[in-house]
Amino acid sequence: MQDTHEIDLASYTAQDLDSYRGGLAGLTRREFLEYCIGIAATMGLSSTVGIRMAEAATSGLRPPVIWLHGQECTGCTESLLRSQHPTLEALILDTISLDYHETLCAGAGRQAEAHKHKVMEEYAGKYVLVTEGATPTKDGGIYCKVAGRPYIEQLREAAEGAAAIIAIGSCAAWGGIQAADPNPTGARATHEVLEGRIVVNIPGCPPSPYNFLSTVLYLLTFNKPPELDGENRPKFAYGRLIHENCERRPHFDAGRFALEFGDYGHRQGFCLYKIGCKGPETYANCPAIGFGDVGAGAWPVGTGAPCFGCTMQQTGFRKPIHALADVKTFAPPTAFPEVNSAKGQSITPAAAAVAAGAAGVLVGAGAVAMTKLGGAPTDEPTRDDES
Ligand code: SF4
Repeated sequence: MQDTHEIDLASYTAQDLDSYRGGLAGLTRREFLEYCIGIAATMGLSSTVGIRMAEAATSGLRPPVIWLHGQECTGCTESLLRSQHPTLEALILDTISLDYHETLCAGAGRQAEAHKHKVMEEYAGKYVLVTEGATPTKDGGIYCKVAGRPYIEQLREAAEGAAAIIAIGSCAAWGGIQAADPNPTGARATHEVLEGRIVVNIPGCPPSPYNFLSTVLYLLTFNKPPELDGENRPKFAYGRLIHENCERRPHFDAGRFALEFGDYGHRQGFCLYKIGCKGPETYANCPAIGFGDVGAGAWPVGTGAPCFGCTMQQTGFRKPIHALADVKTFAPPTAFPEVNSAKGQSITPAAAAVAAGAAGVLVGAGAVAMTKLGGAPTDEPTRDDES
């Protein structure tokens, strides 16, 4: 736990980051700049923004962060701590001032609570609140207590002085498994409890730690959250269907499926759609960035487990694991709308003809299908570029 929010960095700039090696998780200046530029690229931003992120991260003005845990398994924190290249916990602990986190606190009991309140008073309106876990609301919230008080009280109290609020993981973002029927504790998402506040949702069970870190770096740099979709998820991370980037997609298109776990198709790495993969209806960048920095294929579908849609409020912990996904893109690639056509715009007659020809259906039916594909519904993420 840190007791200061200032690092003696007055003489350091992004041009002289080598001198601050200890504060960059052991990275050299070049490695740190490359890392930030990589983060910016992941978000669809320019390398200039990456350099600005590096400067912001080493400005010495580390924002205090209060991290609360409600009903959860601590998997989001565990995932965060297991990231490498760089060691994420080192970087994030040097970039922010993590003043309260029940898993990582050096102090405990009254000492930890007193420090949390001191930070909340001293930095009112300036600290970042991160919530992990759902909030039980039934019976006064007695089903989750921290320091003898219902979590819902702790959450509302901490939210009052927060400059920004991030809900990490599906439990904080949607209620997660705690909110699944019959939801005996009245579990709710953070944003449902904090009505009127903007809560940036980073759903996932667990989410990729890089989606969280990228969001924090963006907040540090621009003092505002990155562009969000209709469900307050950063578009850079939740703008594409998993199905679009999945390494098993050629098998889907070719009609090669695993029909049960352990069968020939499963052992061959065929598509997992028929054993319940929700990739076709799930927006997330899991196949693109993976987990744990252990190389390509290190994500659930890559290891043979169907995606269960944890980043989607109506899918993860709601739809049965074995239920078939709602496939949004049946048409072959030649029938897709032009990539440079305006969103929501109907396809050209020529494209409609291609679609109809390829699918062997009427032109009108093809046009209807393509119009639907061309425009994302307002409550679903789109992929507008951040400038
Ligand atoms: Fe990949 Fe699942 Fe789509 Fe198959 S259904 S291509 S396994 S995301």
